[in-house]
Amino acid sequence: MKLELSEEQVMLQDVVGKLLAKHGTLARLSAAEPLGFDAALWDEVWELGIPLLRAPDAGEASVLHALVVAEEAGRHLASVPLIEAIVARRLLAQLAPAACPWLDAAREGQDVIALASEDLGKAPGQILASGAVAQAVLGLEGDALWVWHDLGHGDLPKIHGSIPACRLSALTVGARQRIDDPDAARLFRAALEELRLLTAAQLAAAGQQAVQDAADYAGGREAFGRKIGEFQGLSHPLANVATDLEGARLLCWRAVDAIARGDSIIDGDAGAGAMVAMAHWWAGVAARGAALVSMRVFGGYGMTTDYPAQLFFRRINGWSLVGGTPDAAMDLIAARLWRGAPADLPEAGDTGITFGWGEEGEAAAARMREFCERRHSAELAKFMRESLDGFDRELHQELAEVGLLHPDAPAEFGGPGLKASTAAAVRDVFGSYYWNLLAPSITDMIAKTVLHFGSETARQEILPDLYAGRKYCTLGYSEPSGGSDIFAARVTATRDGDDWLINGQKQFTSTAHLADYALMVTRTGPDKHRGITMFIVPLKQEGFALNEIKTIGDERTNATFYDNVRVPDAYRIGEVNGGVKVLAAALAIEQSSGDLHVMSMRNLLRGALAWARDEAEGEAPITRPEVARALADTATRLVIQDTLNRHAIWAQEVGQSRKHYGPMAKLFGSESWTSTSARLLEVAAPASLEVGLDGVAAIEFMLRRAIPSTIYAGSSEIQRSIIAEAGLGMPRSR
Ligand SMILES: Cc1cc2nc3c(=O)[nH]c(=O)nc-3n(C[C@H](O)[C@H](O)[C@H](O)COP(=O)(O)OP(=O)(O)OC[C@H]3O[C@@H](n4cnc5c(N)ncnc54)[C@H](O)[C@@H]3O)c2cc1C
Repeated sequence: MKLELSEEQVMLQDVVGKLLAKHGTLARLSAAEPLGFDAALWDEVWELGIPLLRAPDAGEASVLHALVVAEEAGRHLASVPLIEAIVARRLLAQLAPAACPWLDAAREGQDVIALASEDLGKAPGQILASGAVAQAVLGLEGDALWVWHDLGHGDLPKIHGSIPACRLSALTVGARQRIDDPDAARLFRAALEELRLLTAAQLAAAGQQAVQDAADYAGGREAFGRKIGEFQGLSHPLANVATDLEGARLLCWRAVDAIARGDSIIDGDAGAGAMVAMAHWWAGVAARGAALVSMRVFGGYGMTTDYPAQLFFRRINGWSLVGGTPDAAMDLIAARLWRGAPADLPEAGDTGITFGWGEEGEAAAARMREFCERRHSAELAKFMRESLDGFDRELHQELAEVGLLHPDAPAEFGGPGLKASTAAAVRDVFGSYYWNLLAPSITDMIAKTVLHFGSETARQEILPDLYAGRKYCTLGYSEPSGGSDIFAARVTATRDGDDWLINGQKQFTSTAHLADYALMVTRTGPDKHRGITMFIVPLKQEGFALNEIKTIGDERTNATFYDNVRVPDAYRIGEVNGGVKVLAAALAIEQSSGDLHVMSMRNLLRGALAWARDEAEGEAPITRPEVARALADTATRLVIQDTLNRHAIWAQEVGQSRKHYGPMAKLFGSESWTSTSARLLEVAAPASLEVGLDGVAAIEFMLRRAIPSTIYAGSSEIQRSIIAEAGLGMPRSR
């Protein structure tokens, strides 16, 4: 994986950002109203040659370069149709020089050229995003590309959004010429796809800026004697939209990569065309939601024209809705995913990024696939789902023997010593077979904590058994008196010679019935935070007992009891009373492991699709728009979740991780898993009420399993607080 901009792309970002910031003051933006067009800025972007960025005869930068410009245009609410210009100018340069007399003059000038997304002949009422300031419009009539030029604008209706949009029928047309190039229609359609993608990137960045402005304001303004950012009623909705927007931003990048190298994660068919449609729909949804939340944070001031929040709101509405309704955008996703609707895509050029696992990761994934194919059977699949913990000691040991149980375990402790992203690539494969390896996953997280913070004795005595699949761990954090407030732990550890004695009760200790050790938070001092110490406690000894707890998700968990359970000091993890540091790192590892959500949403989608395509009772349900849209929603969120995970893994590997990356992946994954299952339960009713594991029954099952995912490993509320604080710089609200 490589997910950072090249030096050249950073320079482009810097230059364009500075220019647009100079022209992006509220005074300048307001002066450009009502059309949202700033002629002086238009001249300056041309002086820098930005519209020619992607033109083949002017260097032909990659689509990621264009995306970088689109992000800056969004962040600064550029009052010029910059992304449309980049796309249109590339198209002009691609068309055969002799294709039409108008082309020669047009290539030389800096006219605004509007692109019509619908047939020029059949849709006179269509809206052109830059029509009100355009000198020409390019569009298809059937399969022929036409230019209508020498446009007159007359009296134009005011358009919400402060964008220069108008109806095609509102223009007077001086002349019309057909562009005589056999490739013209294909090139034009590819240009529209590129415009869709760049619009999405522009929207995501505009939304992100609106959210950051609101978060900054909330960090300064006071009400009731407190900063308003301390109210979760403000910080949590901001954290939600910030997460949705980060998903949108990265989905645009993912679509770029998909165009460049072909990529798919949904049963082999979420190709690049579907990803572009997904990015376009999702960025609009996320940005519009963000604009509304942001305005609210500013209170009355958000409504006034003295603050830019309302301008973000109007521009975001304009940019996202000028292409049509969100439902139509979802229908396009469904058509591309499940009805084979083609998409003519632009050439991506050398983007420099990749979401792929790399050579090592792909090789390990191939070995895992081969292993799964060899060992998978109907009985194993049934066992993996019914047992839910999918615990099969022999199978796990077999996996360990071929280096696939913990691929990133260090060689020093008997592991293969591969990269963390390689381990993720392997998990991605067994997840696609719905092998729910819960006990090894929890063990893996704890092994990492022991590896980083444990004593040499603990590392040498414990890790080889864990990595070989001989022993397993459980997490002993939550207690009957509370799980979210983890630092309020009451289970005590008291010194007894070279050992410690553990006393008390932990609650929801999942896999404890399979485990040999518990990573445990204990109280060793009176101070809430400076009185916490962590241990890895051997469980198979006198004084330890457990009771099964059954859950609605058919998931077994446990109450665990400790009566003078002995643990050597060498199994202390971190300093005495220094547990907070260890716990923070351990929680970060836990919250970054979002592949459970990908696995589950894949399973959900698979089951729902099996039902939706079934024609046994007449027309297949997928032909109903509400069903197709619910499926498109699930598919899009699945791709975003996978993308957020990959980004978090990459950032960790290259040392660029931030504290909110894991929480964003966890929040998005668990909430999306829940909302999509709930939506599918409705559209597939009453068949979806059936209890089972496969086909339509997977929907009900997946919904029951989704709900606890919003609670364990830190509830959604806790994740939102972390995102608001670490991601948006807001004051503490817990
Ligand atoms: C199936 C399952 C498996 C689990 N496995 C494990 C495990 O293996 N090991 C383990 O240690 N724990 C495990 N847990 C426990 C889980 O981590 C806790 O349930 C969780 O941390 C919440 O704690 P609680 O249930 O005590 O709820 P509480 O902490 O009492 O919270 C109740 C509600 O209040 C909200 N809330 C609490 N504090 C705040 C705040 N500051 N701001 C806003 N809202 C807040 C919470 O979000 C929640 O909605 C598991 C739970 C489940 C359901």
